[in-house]
Amino acid sequence: MTKIQKGKIVSIHYTLKGDDGEVIDSSEGGEPLEYLHGAGNIVVGLESGLDGRATGEKFDVKVAPKDGYGVHDPRGVQRVSRDSFPDDIDLEPGMQFGADDPEGDSQTIWIVKVEDENVVIDMNHPLAGKTLHFAVAVHGVREATGEEVAHGHPHGPHGHHHH
Ligand code: ZN
Repeated sequence: MTKIQKGKIVSIHYTLKGDDGEVIDSSEGGEPLEYLHGAGNIVVGLESGLDGRATGEKFDVKVAPKDGYGVHDPRGVQRVSRDSFPDDIDLEPGMQFGADDPEGDSQTIWIVKVEDENVVIDMNHPLAGKTLHFAVAVHGVREATGEEVAHGHPHGPHGHHHH
């Protein structure tokens, strides 16, 4: 049986819950999630929980914030003018925007709250600071192609190149 290790393309079904048991995300009812092991395609805590596992195994992986989406940095929460956003967009909590930080790097921001004149934004990932509870079933493990290793991601079961 092929074990999960660096350089394997792994497909999993998973359900992700928060501390309160609420389902945050799940692949159930859809296609399994496929990723390249060891390439940082998924959060590091889940990746290390999958290390050495094989097809057919089912298990739980608990991921601390530092091994998930990071700890929540309060400095990432800011109140900015509504004018910073395009007029023609109806802003709602949970919306995601790309922005350039002062160094010119692109940064993702999330809308937390919309007020009359201002908008509260958060530069932390919405799952930052949360302990992640994954229930995982390994669906398949295969060797990555040279092209997949070079790109750092899987190209799908039929070799499609989708980015
Ligand atoms: Zn590619």
